[in-house]
This record gives sequence, C-alpha cells and structure tokens, in this order.
Amino acid sequence: MRLSKMSQGITKSPTFAVEAKAAAMRAQGVHVIPFGAGEPDFDTPEHIRDAAKASIDAGHTRYTATAGIVELRQAVVDSVQKRHGLTYKPNNVIVSCGAKHSLFNAFLALVGPGDEVIVPAPYWVSYPDQVRVAGAVPVVVDTSLSGFKLTAAAFEAAITPNTRVLILNSPSNPTGATYTRDELAAIAEVAVRHDLVVVSDEIYDRLLYTGEQAVSIATLGDAIRERTLIVNGVSKTYAMTGWRIGWAVGNAELIDAMNRIQGHSTSNPCSVSQRAALAALTGPDEPVQAMIDAFRARGQRMAERLCSLPHVSCAVPTGAFYCFPNVAPYIGIEFEGRQIANSYDLADVILEQAHVAVVAGGAFGCDNFMRLSYATSIAQIEDGMDRIERLFAKMLK
Ligand code: PMP
Ligand code: GLU
Repeated sequence: MRLSKMSQGITKSPTFAVEAKAAAMRAQGVHVIPFGAGEPDFDTPEHIRDAAKASIDAGHTRYTATAGIVELRQAVVDSVQKRHGLTYKPNNVIVSCGAKHSLFNAFLALVGPGDEVIVPAPYWVSYPDQVRVAGAVPVVVDTSLSGFKLTAAAFEAAITPNTRVLILNSPSNPTGATYTRDELAAIAEVAVRHDLVVVSDEIYDRLLYTGEQAVSIATLGDAIRERTLIVNGVSKTYAMTGWRIGWAVGNAELIDAMNRIQGHSTSNPCSVSQRAALAALTGPDEPVQAMIDAFRARGQRMAERLCSLPHVSCAVPTGAFYCFPNVAPYIGIEFEGRQIANSYDLADVILEQAHVAVVAGGAFGCDNFMRLSYATSIAQIEDGMDRIERLFAKMLK
C-alpha cells in the first residue's frame, strides 16, 4: 500500500514495543519482570473509581465541550494556582486524551515544515516523532555530560533562525533528573530573548522525592509565563494511565488553536474519564502521598542495586519513576555468539535471557544507557535485579 511519507518516517513507540514483546512472552507462561513501559502498578484510588461509576448513572455519557467540561478545566486552574501561584482561566486550559495527546496538539498548533524544535536528550520517546508528524525538525541536544539537564549555553548554541520551540521535561523521563529554579531561570532568559515557546511537560511534577516542590518554568516571570505551555495529566500521579486524561495550560490563543485541531480529531476526551479526573484533582490526597512514598523507596533500592553491578553507574533518581544507568561496558561485546552492537541488542538479551523487560537507551537518544521503570513492587525489583545481576556476571566473564 502506498503510505504517506510522514507515516513512513515515524517509528513504533519503543516503550509500547517492549511491552508487546513482554506480553507475548507472558502469554507463553513466562514470568517477565516489568521494568519496561512506565506505568504505576497501583490501582486507581477507590474514590476516583466510585466517582466514575456514579457519573455513568448520572448520565454523563454524552459529548462534552471539545476542551473538556468546565468543572475539570476549573479544577486544573485551581491546581496550578495552588501549586505554582499562577492565575489562569478555564479558557487557558484544554483537556485531551492523555498528556501525549496534549503534546501532539501542541506541536501541531505551534510548528510546521521549516521549523525546528529543540529536544534535550535523553528525551521521552514520543517527542521527536510528534515533531516530525507536525512536519518540523527535532534538533536533539545531548545532555548526558551535564547531569542530564540542558544548560542555557547548550540551549543557546542549538538555536537557529528556524527554532520555534523548546521541549522541557522535569522531572524527567527517562533520567529522573529535575531542574532547579536557577537552571530553569537561565533557560527562561534564553527562551525569552530568542522569542521561543517552551512546552513544559510536567507530568511527573508530583513525583519528586527530594522533599521540595517541583518548579514550573512558567513561574519565572511574566515574559516566560506568556510563552510557556504547561502539560500535565492524571496518568502518573493518580495511577490512571488507562483513563486517558491529560491537559495543557497556557496562552489562550494557543489553547484555542489546539482546541480547533482537537475538534476535528478526537472531539472531547471520554466524558466518564473527565469526571474521574475531576474527582482525582478535587479529592483526598493521601493515596497520592502513599504512592509517592512507595516510589521513593523503590527508586533508591533500584539505583542501589544497579550501582552494585560491575561497571554500571546510576544516579539516584530525584523524580519520576525511572533509573537510567550507564551500561556502556555491556555494549559492543559478543555474548554467546551474539553481537551486542547497541542498547537495543542489550535490551533484547535481557528480555530473552533474564526475562526482564527494560527499554533501550537508544530509544531516548542515548545509546550507552538503558531505562528501568521502578513503578513495580520491591519484590519484583529485587527479583528483576537478581536476574540482571546473574546475566551481567556471565556477560563480562
Ligand atoms: N510525557 C512523559 C514524559 C511521559 O512519560 C508520559 C507517559 N506516557 C506522557 C507524557 C504521556 O502520558 P499520558 O498520555 O498517559 O497522559
Ligand atoms: N510514558 C510511559 C513510558 O515512557 C508509557 C509509555 C508511553 O506512553 O510511551 O514508558
């Protein structure tokens, strides 16, 4: 079949590809440890599930406004006000089918052929391909030598007359790194001076383990606030990946453009999920706190186990739920007659031989690394790390 050039330039989502392989192995009865796609292992809290059930009986089963019900947009406004002290109105908010969809709408609204988007690497897997769908060019800037964070100098060096947008993700998937206020202020200064838009993916902003509160770049002055689009959602914070609710908050003109795009694609996100998200944002916070505490302990333990592997280094993650160790000595070697040429080969060997699903660092633009999600129980973390330890011992023998 003759397919569009655009579709041929897009890769399969590598996170979901790993999950598909792991699922096929599980269907054969293999116990695969799930360090692959990042999704909380917790159930959606009960009060949220109850609100969704009640909403069906209350008849909230029809189309809603394309941008989402006004109650939910107001709840998003309230949460941004409470967390960051920023004042917005419901017309500054659009609710979409997951934060992934919010980002997709944003790139479609902001860039097109001839435009460039700066993407710090390691990046979340979908950014470059979403930029390509919009017809623009992702300009990848390596941050592996600066603590996995884009410096203002590296940012400025990557800017050309075609640059339109910077995508930032703090806390970061895949590295768990979190930007400080000063680091963000330096980046904001460059963005304002070059008249760029910042798409700030803050989906992990509640999952910060330092005891501090995550800083949004939008809080660092009126000029940067006006050109920042904050993206967030319920998937990670409330263990609601399957409900598909995310949102974007920012300049009303940009939100309106995204609304027009969404009005011709998905229309509103699922009405029942919107009610569930409303309950999440307005209900008790204890379940979230309990999950944050569990993630903190899991991340520390996984990083500890990774650092004890020969020739592996790994920073203790400050946020999100991923470890991103450097596994370079295990790449470029031969193991049992098989050439391990890159991180994808290494991830395959780990899945096939140790039955542990991990995502290759190459999928995030850094081939000497791999990503392990610790959104799973301590028991699974110990089991998975035991398996990797045994495999790695054989590999470097
Ligand atoms: N941004 C980042 C950095 C993520 O890790 C994810 C997780 N899938 C998303 C956005 C999208 O989340 P969702 O579409 O489930 O809201
Ligand atoms: N964000 C998760 C991850 O990075 C889920 C998969 C995805 O949305 O691509 O693994």
